[in-house]
Amino acid sequence: MSDIIHLLPDSVANQIAAGEVIQRPASAAKELLENAIDAGADDIKLIIKDAGKTLIQVIDNGCGMSETDARMSFERHATSKISDAKDLFTIRTLGFRGEALASIAAIAQIELKTKRIEDEVGICIKIEGSEVKSHEPCSAANGTSFSIKNLFFNIPARRKFLKSNTTELRHIIEEFQRVALVYPEIKFTFFNENRELFQLSKSVLKQRIASLFGAAYNNRLIPVVQKTDLVNITGFIVKPEFAKKTRGEQYFFVNGRYIRHPYLNHAIDNAFRELIPSDTFPSYFIYFDINPNEIDINIHPTKTEVNFENNQVIYAMLSSAVKQALGKFNLTPSIDFDIEKGIDITPLPRSVEVNQPTVKVDENYNPFDVETQHGEKPSFQHHQKPDTRNWQKLYGDEEFTQNRQETELPQEDDAKLIFTSQGVEAETGTDTVFQLHNKYIVSSMRSGLLVIDQQRAHERVLFERFLEKLESQKGTSQQQLFPVTVQFSPSDAEILKEIEAELKILGFDIEDFGENTFIINGNPAEMNNQDIKGVLEGIIENFKKNLKELAKDKKVNLARSMAVNLSIKQGRKLKTEEIKSLIDQLFACRMPEVSPDGKPTLRILTLSYLDEQFN
Ligand code: ADP
Ligand code: MG
Repeated sequence: MSDIIHLLPDSVANQIAAGEVIQRPASAAKELLENAIDAGADDIKLIIKDAGKTLIQVIDNGCGMSETDARMSFERHATSKISDAKDLFTIRTLGFRGEALASIAAIAQIELKTKRIEDEVGICIKIEGSEVKSHEPCSAANGTSFSIKNLFFNIPARRKFLKSNTTELRHIIEEFQRVALVYPEIKFTFFNENRELFQLSKSVLKQRIASLFGAAYNNRLIPVVQKTDLVNITGFIVKPEFAKKTRGEQYFFVNGRYIRHPYLNHAIDNAFRELIPSDTFPSYFIYFDINPNEIDINIHPTKTEVNFENNQVIYAMLSSAVKQALGKFNLTPSIDFDIEKGIDITPLPRSVEVNQPTVKVDENYNPFDVETQHGEKPSFQHHQKPDTRNWQKLYGDEEFTQNRQETELPQEDDAKLIFTSQGVEAETGTDTVFQLHNKYIVSSMRSGLLVIDQQRAHERVLFERFLEKLESQKGTSQQQLFPVTVQFSPSDAEILKEIEAELKILGFDIEDFGENTFIINGNPAEMNNQDIKGVLEGIIENFKKNLKELAKDKKVNLARSMAVNLSIKQGRKLKTEEIKSLIDQLFACRMPEVSPDGKPTLRILTLSYLDEQFN
């Protein structure tokens, strides 16, 4: 038999490589943006059509290419950035593998126009599926314009695999943000469907963050600085009170490259742990500047993973830097030198004596005392704080003695006991309910004590209600007296558009006003006096999180996001009628025992358990 091994043609090899490097339009956009930065540009435009499926174009004012280089740039392993294996240890550019352009050229139709400042004319090259279609001089501005048209045109299977335009655009925005966050000194413009999505002028990091994520960030950022011989750590963490329900804004950059690093993320999580609720995540923008020979960036084709030589030392340094930053922020109000408008602090006249502020402590304060601020006593107060003079009455309580007798009987599975009955009402003296710590609802029942988590219970109630509306397509809206205009970040605005029809069914009367602005004429009746923008942001936030984590059905996802955001929160004082109505509504649900995200809504402390405790 003759030999059977042969080398693959370049075009095939490039297509295979493309599978690794270019997974979706966003990866192609990222490669082009990085090349523009490596070319020394300080003004970069990204133009997207049809979520990158039809066009991804990057125009830069960088160094441009000579005619030969322009042609060479599409060859596999063709790069101007390294020439020697030892260069791998001193990389300061974003690219170095010389693979991106060859890969992209294998799977798209490409038009490259480029001109160096010293050249009279530029050069225009057209390539389709690795094949050069034309190559001629042309008039061009200094720099490079790179258009990728019809990505995956020759691999229908890959093209079919792409997600909805909203999803693909979201990925592009994410890549764009990761690049823009590293180069505040570069001007970036992002056009989507001929509309300007971002216009980022040259500025400093703090302002760049604010122009990407909203002006509110100007007052939310705490600087982090730690300079050592091994590594410089700089950047910002977001104040603990703005911790998010999703992992949204967590950015690590190493020598200007965005990376994921669960181990270092843990250092930050840890530093924040005591300061934020356990189901929230801190936001951060942290930059490591380190000698390239201390890291290995070559471990992943998309280069989002980096190995540090001294992982543990870096962990310790980051941890201390973040803790220090948090500590300083707690002691001193932050004064912003970066914002253009300074804060006016009028100095006190010299004659005024300054006293150190004193703290008043209420010595009688007892956090376990359920008496409310308004002096209103919960209806079940005698159980909470038994009046010892009345103890006979308490123990002679009919309900109590009846319960005592029943413990002697074999107990059914407690959960079944409640859910198979006609709701809990029949078993619970509904008068004997009270709220504990404005967090739990406690009620006695035949088999013991029923403890309900008020927030999760309400989430369950709302979730089923919203899901029903979405499924039956019937919902009502409560008109606002005055329409509210709200503006969102471009990426959030895209999501809002994706779920606009459903939000309408759920009671949000929304109008898209263009430019990421929406007018809200009405809201769901379930909304109390909540801030409408905050609620919508929360819904978008949750929706994103669920999309990532559980590829849920859209309706379920949305009903869940709404429920979480409109629910009665922990810490809210409830009136007795509200408590009773919540219990009724909970047990009218199809699945009262779990919250929409699968956590228990209630627990039963059985009499036998209580008896054991007293043994
Ligand atoms: P890498 O970036 O890893 O070197 P690429 O395939 O992305 O590989 O690019 C190949 C080469 O083409 C680069 O090394 C660079 O010399 C040149 N090049 C690519 N894009 C540009 C650009 N926008 N401006 C100038 N030169 C570029
Ligand atoms: Mg490159």
